[in-house]
Amino acid sequence: MKDKNKLLRMLPKVDECLARLESYVEEYEIPLRVAKKGVQQAVEQLRNRLLNDEQVHIPKSQAEWDEIFKRQIGLLMDSNLKRVINGTGIVVHTNLGRSLLPDHSIRQLSMAGACYTNLEFNLKTGKRGSRYSLVEEVICDLTGAEAALVVNNNAAAVLISLDTLARDREVIISRGQLVEIGGSFRIPDVMKKSGAALVEVGATNRTHLYDYEQAISDSTALLLRVHTSNFRIIGFTSQVSAEELVGLGNKYELPVMEDLGSGSFTDLSTFGLPPEPTVQEVVKSGVDVVVFSGDKLLGGPQSGIIVGKEKIISRIKKNPLNRALRIDKFTLASLESVLRDYYDPEKVMKKNQTLRMISDPPEIIKKRAQRLMRRTRRKIEDRCALSMVSTISRVGGGALPEYGLASWAVELNPGGTTVSKLEVDFRALPVPVIGRIENERLLIDFRTVLDGEIPELSTQLINYFS
Ligand SMILES: *Cc1c(COP(=O)(O)O)cnc(C)c1O
Repeated sequence: MKDKNKLLRMLPKVDECLARLESYVEEYEIPLRVAKKGVQQAVEQLRNRLLNDEQVHIPKSQAEWDEIFKRQIGLLMDSNLKRVINGTGIVVHTNLGRSLLPDHSIRQLSMAGACYTNLEFNLKTGKRGSRYSLVEEVICDLTGAEAALVVNNNAAAVLISLDTLARDREVIISRGQLVEIGGSFRIPDVMKKSGAALVEVGATNRTHLYDYEQAISDSTALLLRVHTSNFRIIGFTSQVSAEELVGLGNKYELPVMEDLGSGSFTDLSTFGLPPEPTVQEVVKSGVDVVVFSGDKLLGGPQSGIIVGKEKIISRIKKNPLNRALRIDKFTLASLESVLRDYYDPEKVMKKNQTLRMISDPPEIIKKRAQRLMRRTRRKIEDRCALSMVSTISRVGGGALPEYGLASWAVELNPGGTTVSKLEVDFRALPVPVIGRIENERLLIDFRTVLDGEIPELSTQLINYFS
């Protein structure tokens, strides 16, 4: 106890330390309050560890203390939003920012940040314009829909559509489609927020057209289909198709809505993936409102796209919620340029990062992994064995959950440390590397590693193991 008090008294005074760091703070233009916070945190951390009776090393010299302070101040000066290397092999990785934008979209983004734009200014009439008109025509051209609207994300698209079409009334949905998407987005919860009442029909595995029909009453406002995206019910199953539901909707004069989740404009079966309904197909089936994400399979910025019949979309546009859920100029700038790529099916496969990564064949991915091996293997082999392994990566974003993409990874087998320690340390690298642990090995899947990241990844590995 006495010892502990003695150690606590050895902790330095914040103001004295700060005075000593004056020239460092000046040289790197560190705001005084940040420097002070860094010093306080560093001392505080040691104090807490002492109070918790942890084994701690108390720095012996001022120089040693100053190194600790500088490291802590450096952490505070760093951006909280950091670039990371995605070695998970999950292309649309929600926690890592989903889709990457093509270069020309990034140029549009920085233009929108650096310059004034005609965001809500009609250059022909010189009067106020609508921000949505900048993308509406492109979306209608590409999907075949009569009208379109873009909001903050697909959850917002579902919310505003239900609020407009079914507030205080009933929405009929199949029990097998009451999906929860990651991050606590649940269809029943969104429905509650929108003031619509949920009427579940059918059984978990099977729902028939007559289930919907029997549930229709005077209070019914909408028939809803939800793409089950992130799960599958297999075995003895049956769901009602969009066409059948549209037929029923017509009979009872009820609108039909479909939440497609990761809506795609591209037929994924063209590159060997299982077919998923495209947005165009669902629009063509006669569904009145179709909603989908802009940053899942579409490969654009975070957004929720609503397409459908003019009469219904114009009601959604007038909903006051639209103002609260509207997209900003950065989303518009990048979304428009990503969408325009889809006019040319060949170009989009080259430019669209999400489609390119999903469709990269294993041979190309293997070459990327080999480039890392050549640069790195021999330099670290006495500390960490590297080997190439074939592996399976995922589309992510709730799309094609049961389908794996053949891929290649570099497997790390460190001698002196555990794989879980390695995983933690890699997250703390200057450019954090996020891998995947499989069978007590750390894998870096090269499907999601960019060509330009390979030299840097190699340097970081060499530095870490030296
Ligand atoms: C992903 C998803 C959503 C939510 O979309 P966000 O763009 O993440 O808001 C809603 N419904 C379905 C079916 C989805 O797959």
